[in-house]
Amino acid sequence: MSMLRQDPLTGRWVIIAAGRSARPNEFPTQTRDRSPRTDCPFCPGNENQTTPEVWALGRATGQAENGPGWQMRAFPNMYPALVPADAVAPFGRDEGADHELFRQTAGLGRHEVVVYSPNHQDSPAALGPDHMAALLLILRDRAQDFSQHPQVRYVSAFCNHGPEAGATLAHPHMQIIGAPEVPLLAACKASRFAAYRQDRGQCLLCDLEAAERASGNRIVAANDRWTALAPWASRFPWELLFIPRRHGASLAQATTEELQALAAVLSPALQRLFTFHEDPSLNIVIHSTTVDTAGQDEDGNNFHWHLEVLPRLSRPAGFEVGTGYTINSAVPEDVARWLRGEGD
Ligand SMILES: [Zn+2]
Ligand SMILES: [Zn+2]
Repeated sequence: MSMLRQDPLTGRWVIIAAGRSARPNEFPTQTRDRSPRTDCPFCPGNENQTTPEVWALGRATGQAENGPGWQMRAFPNMYPALVPADAVAPFGRDEGADHELFRQTAGLGRHEVVVYSPNHQDSPAALGPDHMAALLLILRDRAQDFSQHPQVRYVSAFCNHGPEAGATLAHPHMQIIGAPEVPLLAACKASRFAAYRQDRGQCLLCDLEAAERASGNRIVAANDRWTALAPWASRFPWELLFIPRRHGASLAQATTEELQALAAVLSPALQRLFTFHEDPSLNIVIHSTTVDTAGQDEDGNNFHWHLEVLPRLSRPAGFEVGTGYTINSAVPEDVARWLRGEGD
């Protein structure tokens, strides 16, 4: 049973999910050992250690569901942060709160895992463009499925690679969560998109992408559908931002060609990042909306979805955690130049 509580001081939603404390953690001491394990629940042959799969790719005809032979498979998280409505007792907003300041809502939503390789020692950088495209396509399809559920107002797809990035299992996987409330960062972005559109009549990220291409200083890679860059105000050293050049609010609305084009720039960028930093911990996060997300205009046009790569080369300390400021030791223009292969 999980619940969402809203911090009255900031408006930030917090998911309280006590059941997740029981999940296995292969990285209790921050080691990064990814040697093969017989007890890995995500390795082929151990499918009975996960929940039943909702999707799989790669099995030959005649191979059974929930058995080996797959290249990728998706299933509900065994220790979900949020759960479907039919899995919990009815629980209304504010139930249990004893003051209007104590806003609380049931932890309803979706939380799935996509194991994107049968090879325990793979990393996001090991995926070639075709494999990466197949992963992005399944994330899109799951996002479309999540968006059908009335309790889901926000969808986040993300990868935790390495212990510093929050991974508790080494086996390569991504996760996707459909949440019942719009998180603070997304609400902040949505309001800035809305204000920019009201002021300029344009999309904030469409304009930013055009300005970055005109400048060229922070561009890492580009094709006719995507621009990859080191953001102007990167929070993390070696942070990367991937912007689709066609305006769209949601991963769920992306075309197959767009996702193949994203894989064509994302895959080599990750491989280059992994040559500069040996197997770095990192998060990959897709910022997307469901169609009815608050802050969009009537056409659902305010937001513009995007993907971030957030290397976790340093740890946030008191100043960062306490203020929201971040201190970044890598100059974005240098990072872009290095990743373009231009050296010093
Ligand atoms: Zn494994
Ligand atoms: Zn746009």
